[in-house]
Amino acid sequence: MEAQKLKLKCPVCGLDVELDSDVMDGELIEHDCGAVLEVKIVDGEVKLVEFEGSMEDWGE
Ligand SMILES: [Zn+2]
Repeated sequence: MEAQKLKLKCPVCGLDVELDSDVMDGELIEHDCGAVLEVKIVDGEVKLVEFEGSMEDWGE
């Protein structure tokens, strides 16, 4: 079995983002640029959007 990687562009900084091919819809990824990206899978196509929620709320 070969571990496949998906390569997408970060919508915030435009640099490459590597994802595992078994990435789940709704997964949050912190990119090198500091942006938090949410994985959206639509009709089998993986997309990245900037996560709008506040990470700070999680602490309380
Ligand atoms: Zn980025």
